[in-house]
Amino acid sequence: MHRFMVAPEQIQDKRITLTGEDHKHLSQVLRLGPGDIIGVFDGSGMEYEARLIKVDKAEALAEILSSRLSDTEPRLRVTLLQGIPKGEKMDWIVQKAVELGVYQVIPVITQHTVVKLDQKERQKKAERWNRIAREAAKQCKRAFVPQVLTPVSLDEMLKLRDNYDAAVLLYENEQKKCLKELMICYTINKIGDIALFVGPEGGFSSLEVDKCFQNGFAVAGLGKRILRSETAAISGLSIIMYEMGEMQ
Ligand code: SAH
Repeated sequence: MHRFMVAPEQIQDKRITLTGEDHKHLSQVLRLGPGDIIGVFDGSGMEYEARLIKVDKAEALAEILSSRLSDTEPRLRVTLLQGIPKGEKMDWIVQKAVELGVYQVIPVITQHTVVKLDQKERQKKAERWNRIAREAAKQCKRAFVPQVLTPVSLDEMLKLRDNYDAAVLLYENEQKKCLKELMICYTINKIGDIALFVGPEGGFSSLEVDKCFQNGFAVAGLGKRILRSETAAISGLSIIMYEMGEMQ
């Protein structure tokens, strides 16, 4: 079944209106018409099965046959706090994080972040990353589209700490405590919201690690090898999802 993503306001009185690119794709590429069944989601976690009742030049109209809360969402809300890496790497991280079930991504400008972004560029980057998140959610059949926030400084990020039941900073110099161990403890305590902080390619300064620790972050390692930022982010998310039983 072909799936389409719509804005909540496109759904009214059990009818869904599809316009623009979706309408074009549906009518000209897929050649769907009245009677055909489509899947629709609105980005908030609801999924619909709908039957097309009218397809004209400008828009398509479908009637909702059934709706349900999507079962693709993890029970745990995981926020990725990502030190912005160079080049296109952040695009890749956003895409993979969405596939793995991330709840939200917050790009963080740290001491060793190489890219310099003024306010306008931050906004533009966030728009790009949100488009990637949207596409990834559609592709991996999530009905919820994770949001990518506009990049924030480390200090601004620390103000959000209280939004999470637990927060973990991944640090290559931490040899004693590992993420798996923390997750076992968090699973027992049934936490609902967790934040995972990963550094950019230059890593965290020891000052930043201390600051996060003082603000209630647990510091954890991922073994003896130094991973690239993107590998650490994806491995970290995978470990969290695996330990929470979200990969079975
Ligand atoms: N510049 C540092 C490495 C930075 S790696 C150096 O060369 O020593 C980029 C980020 O990935 C780090 O800030 C950390 O958050 C994460 N990371 C990489 N390897 C890790 C490991 N073994 N354990 C925990 N985190 C790791």
